[in-house]
Amino acid sequence: MANKEAKHAKNIDGKFYCTDPDDENGEGCIACNVCYTGAPDFFGEDEDGNAFVIKQPDSDDEIALCMEQLEACPVASIGEDG
Ligand code: SF4
Repeated sequence: MANKEAKHAKNIDGKFYCTDPDDENGEGCIACNVCYTGAPDFFGEDEDGNAFVIKQPDSDDEIALCMEQLEACPVASIGEDG
């Protein structure tokens, strides 16, 4: 489960967030590119390839797309309880 206390500094405010690679729980982003490749309208990458949320989903379809990325993230570094 993504650590709400270790959000990437560039996340746009809202429900969805990515966690920072320095997350002490070891659940931070590993720059695998799944989320920003799968949903580029909602997830971006910083200069190190680490992900952050650039736009919050609105419609049911958008939320479903972001949930797919959350479930596909190999290290559980996407949360939806922000
Ligand atoms: S899917 Fe997870 S590990 Fe991969 S880039 Fe996105 S947040 Fe990072």
